This record gives sequence, C-alpha cells and structure tokens, in this order.
Amino acid sequence: MSQIRFYNTYSKQVEPFEPLQAGKVKIYSCGPTVYSHPHIGNFRSFLMADLLKRFLEFKGFTVSHVMNITDVGHLLDDADEGVDKLEEVARKEKKDPLEIAKFYTDSFMTASKMLNIKPADSYPRATEHIPEMIDMVQSLIDKGHAYVVGNNVYYDVTTFKDYGRLSGNMLDDLNAGARIEVNAEKKNPQDFALWKHDPRHIQQWDSPWGRGFPGWHIECSAMSTKYLGEQFDFHTGGEDNIFPHHECEIAQSEGASGKKWVRYWMHTRFLMVDGEKMSKSKGNLYTIQELVDKGFKKNAIRYALISSHYRQNYNFTFDGLKAAEQAIDKISQCVFLLRQVTAEGDAVRDEVPAFIEKAINDFGEALSDDLNISKALAAVFELVKDANKLTDANTAEVKVILDAIERIDSVLGVLETSADEIPPEIMSLAEERRTAKLAKNWTRADEIRNELTAKGFVVEDMPGHDYRIKCRDA
Ligand code: AMP
Ligand code: ZN
Repeated sequence: MSQIRFYNTYSKQVEPFEPLQAGKVKIYSCGPTVYSHPHIGNFRSFLMADLLKRFLEFKGFTVSHVMNITDVGHLLDDADEGVDKLEEVARKEKKDPLEIAKFYTDSFMTASKMLNIKPADSYPRATEHIPEMIDMVQSLIDKGHAYVVGNNVYYDVTTFKDYGRLSGNMLDDLNAGARIEVNAEKKNPQDFALWKHDPRHIQQWDSPWGRGFPGWHIECSAMSTKYLGEQFDFHTGGEDNIFPHHECEIAQSEGASGKKWVRYWMHTRFLMVDGEKMSKSKGNLYTIQELVDKGFKKNAIRYALISSHYRQNYNFTFDGLKAAEQAIDKISQCVFLLRQVTAEGDAVRDEVPAFIEKAINDFGEALSDDLNISKALAAVFELVKDANKLTDANTAEVKVILDAIERIDSVLGVLETSADEIPPEIMSLAEERRTAKLAKNWTRADEIRNELTAKGFVVEDMPGHDYRIKCRDA
C-alpha cells in the first residue's frame, strides 16, 4: 500500500500526507456566499471536499469538517471596494440581508443533500462570529500586523514575510503590476481591509474602531480557529479563492497565532461552460434543481461533477451528464442482478475474494495518488465486469461482492437510496428552529422539534448552532 499523496497549492508539489494528529483529519472549506442559488461550479468545489473527506474516512481517519457560510461582506471587487453582493440583492428585493441569506442558505443545504454531500460538522455563519473576528483584528493590531486609520483597519502586508507564497503573487511583482488601486489611507497598495467603516452599508456592528463591518477575508481565519484550532490539516476552495482570499487568510491566521496554519491547500479548477468559467456574475450557470427539472438524476449530476480530476477544468455538457447516467446504470444493473440471486451457498470460489481485493486495492491506490478519480473509476468497472461474469454466483458470494460495492460507494456516494432524503419543507422547519434557538425562543424551538418528530424526522444539535436532520427510521 503506498503512502497517500496530495498536491499542495502552497508548495506546488505532490506531498506525502501526514496528519497533524495520528488518525484524525481536520478540514476547513470555503463555503457559499449566500446571495443566490449555488450553481454546479460551486458544487464542483464542494464535492471535491466531500470526495476528500469520504476517501479519508475510507482510509480509516476520523474527519472533522467545517464549512463557512458567508452571509456578509463579500465585496464586488478584490480591492475591498464596491458593493456588498448580498446587500445589493437585499436592496433590490426590499428584504433584510439576513432574510436573503437564510433563503439561499436553505437552497444550498437542500442542493447539498440532493447531491448526497455528507454534512459538515458545522456551518458557521459569518454574522454570528463578529466578536471572534474583532478579537482577531485586535490581536493583529497588537502584534504590529495591522493599523488603524480613522474607523478602518488594514493589514500591513509588508509585516508578513510569506505574503504571496501561496499564490506566487510576491509583493514586488504585485507592486509592479497593473492593478494598483489608489487609496491614500493605505501604507501599501496591497494592504487589505480587516474592518471597514461605510455608513451606506446595511449590516453594521459596533467595534473598538467604531461601527462598521468586517473585511472580506477575516471570517475564515476567525471561524476556522474557533472550530478547528490554530493549526489544521486541509483547507479547500475553488481556484479563484487562492488570491486574494486564501493569501490574506494565511497572513491573518499566521500573523495572529505565530504558527504554521494549514498543512495542505487543495484547490478545485473551474467548471467551465463553452470555455468560460461558470459564475453567478456571467449568468451562464445551472443550479442542481434546474438540471433535475430537465430530467437528470441527482446521482448522475454528482457522478459527472466528481468524475474528472479536481486539478483539471471540467467542461460541463448535457452529453457528459448522460454518460454519467449510463455509468451509474452499469453499476446499478450489476447490483440489481446480484440481488436477484437465490442460490443458497456458503462456498466462496477463490477468484471472488481475489478480484474484490484487487478492485478495492486499485480503487484506494488511485485515490491515494492525489485523488486520481479516473483510475479509481476504472477499478470500479473492472469489479463490475468480473461480478457480471459470475453467472452462477451463490448468496455468500453475492454478499461479499455487494459489501465491496458498498464500501466503494461510501466514497463515490452515487448508489445511495433515496430513503434518507429530506424534503425542502423539513429543511425549512429545521432552519426556523435554529433561528428560534438563536433568539432563545425555546418554546418555539421545542414546538418545531415536536413537529419534525411527528413528521418522522429527528433533529440533532451540532456545534456552532448547527444541526443534522435524519429520517427517524433511516
Ligand atoms: P462563492 O459562493 O462565490 O463564495 O463560491 C463558493 C465556492 O465555489 C468557492 O470555493 C469558489 O472558489 C467556488 N467556485 C465558484 N465558481 C466555480 C466554478 N465555476 N468552478 C468551480 N468552483 C467554483
Ligand atoms: Zn474562505
């Protein structure tokens, strides 16, 4: 068995994987900005984190996973200027920003469930962690990494010697580059905002620097520290997160703690449509629901989005989705036929454990090589081919083959039944209970819990005001 290896954006090399703590892995993923329905491009990134997590669990690790929900502060351009996208939608729809955020958080949770993404242990919301962000900004000021100008706080990038190492955008190149904005307040053009004052902003909080709102990057540093500690194993996101977001996150977290922060940085390349990045701003996007409405199966969407290597662009086409459906049909058909076998017997022919062991081994080895999914899938179809050849299998043989397919599917997640599907109205009730709990309205929270129980669902509370819902008999 070879060592598990991953490409690390930080070192730009494939590195052997050594967790910080034996047997345990901590993953932080940049989650959605909740001002519109997430699209399949976003989900390509979220699914990569899901594949990583499921694979590490397959290998026997216990995984803690945190994904943030950005419900404030994403500005329209990289230079800390422009309009907050969430507020822009709130203004347009004449709604409270938190109402917008709640609506699209529900949408994200529902679509994640449709894609059979294993829920994170917590989904911290930025607006619920303003005190933690303020503490981190204060600590950066105290340590000389940040400075206050009026009611604004900026990070002085020249105080952090590794600024630019992740993205390769080293300071000298950046300063010589074309995109230098003019902001007389900043000591250096690349300094970025940690706290901003802008009376036009709807969402504002009190701080030692006056009323304002946090900068674009501080939430991930503050929330990952709160839930995973000052050091952890993986940080994931899409390739557009590398600069400036993750570069700034490193400067903040390592500047505040003085410790090496993340061990492995993993970034998913873009999902493309006709050679262009699928994005909310370009409007060339599909949501999961839109594809389901067109008649595509949810597990085929999942399969299509995970079936190409995460470090290569994936060009989205309907033909690709149809091919994914056919691939899943091949596995399902094999499972279906095996389940029809009635010939009792406990003698397992030698060739059965042999081809199963080979398949499981090849599957694990392929994913150990920086999540080489094409090779892993080839091992699955080899197994299907060998199983289909056993026309006279007995029930004992069927059991070992089905167990192997189930083990493989604990990573792929494409064969799960629909038994544990949570309907949107149940998701919405659970969200309402969360809001009631936050407002300390325990009576309403209990009422909703009872309502959920009556409808056949169990709600389990998790760290960070999160929860999990399960079918009672699942
Ligand atoms: P956002 O909701 O814009 O904050 O994005 C959520 C996540 O989706 C981030 O990690 C982005 O990097 C990622 N992402 C956005 N567009 C794409 C795309 N076309 N392909 C893959 N990942 C994407
Ligand atoms: Zn982030």
